Amino acid sequence: ALKAGVVGLPNVGKSTLFNAITQAGAESANYPFCTIDPNVGVVEVPDYRLDKLTELVQPNKTVPTAFEFVDIAGLVAGASKGEGLGNKFLAHIREVDAIVHVVRCFEDENITHVNGKIDPLGDIQTINLELILADIDSVEKKIDRSRKNLKGGDKKIALEVDVLERVKDALYNDQPARSVELSDDEKQIIRDLHLLTMKPVLYAANVAESEVADTDNNKFVQIVREFAAAEGAQVVPISAKVEEEIAELEGEDKAMFLEELGLQESGLNRLINAAYKLLGLYTYFTAGVQEVRAWTIRKGMKAPQAAGVIHTDFERGFIRAEVVSFEDLAAAGTMNVAKERGQLRLEGKEYVVQDGDVMHFRFNV
Ligand code: GDP
Repeated sequence: ALKAGVVGLPNVGKSTLFNAITQAGAESANYPFCTIDPNVGVVEVPDYRLDKLTELVQPNKTVPTAFEFVDIAGLVAGASKGEGLGNKFLAHIREVDAIVHVVRCFEDENITHVNGKIDPLGDIQTINLELILADIDSVEKKIDRSRKNLKGGDKKIALEVDVLERVKDALYNDQPARSVELSDDEKQIIRDLHLLTMKPVLYAANVAESEVADTDNNKFVQIVREFAAAEGAQVVPISAKVEEEIAELEGEDKAMFLEELGLQESGLNRLINAAYKLLGLYTYFTAGVQEVRAWTIRKGMKAPQAAGVIHTDFERGFIRAEVVSFEDLAAAGTMNVAKERGQLRLEGKEYVVQDGDVMHFRFNV
């Protein structure tokens, strides 16, 4: 399963946010493939389309799609040199697909800041520097190894060294590896290095409880926004403290509490949706009377691969798929009406699944 790692300096609110994530957590019976680990929180991806399909089909059961947040505690200045949990931390972060970087944007005299003052930009740079230093180490080692092999004049290795040098230059200029413009082939060349600064990042700006309804006027959030905009990254303002309280509530209590706070939806939901997007994920649906269910795929997957997410047999024995877009089905009201309108399509092996497709697979066993 795809994973987003939660990082940040000590005392910025990571554990508080992570508590909210596990509290709100998904029912694990529905997700037998997810990791069972205290540092992993499985969350359901909120999706209004799934609610609408449930309303239309009235199934016995509805199952949202899910993904994982990993708590990566222990990053301090010097981690790349082995301070704190150092290398262990860095090894964990190599395994995630995207990074959620929690930044402290709340003032509270009772809670010490590691550097003595609230300084979102400084905090971000401290963490980013550790990631950059770790990547420099990986890249330089790789360059040394490749150079030794280069003596034979192999073109492939020459290209590899060229790509590595470009990445190294960026890192030495304090720029993340993801800022280097690389073709898909070039990206493939350095994939094995699992560079930390290659991963997409989302900043979670942790604001005070009193400011959740109006985060735009928080000067710290603005600083984070400016920095993120320059990097092309997203910012989700959130109050970890408030999210912890929201996560304990359900149904109407939750709705009332959100209204009191002046929020449309929980910050956690916004964070989940933003992380899902950041990972480049699409959702398709299956909609039977037994079960209406959302499934996660990567953008660009073809129908057999998408079927394989449900079961490997579906991929192996794939014949074709019946597909209707969510919008068409919602407007039609029933599958039969959608069919009469000619909106139910038969698609084959080469069909690239679209976000929001409602699919029924035909396959050989
Ligand atoms: P971590 O070290 O990054 O995991 O930070 P914690 O989640 O343990 O938070 C450190 C302290 O800050 C705890 O005492 C939290 O209760 C507090 N804290 C976290 N978020 C907020 C917030 O939004 N407002 C305030 N006032 N305190 C917070």
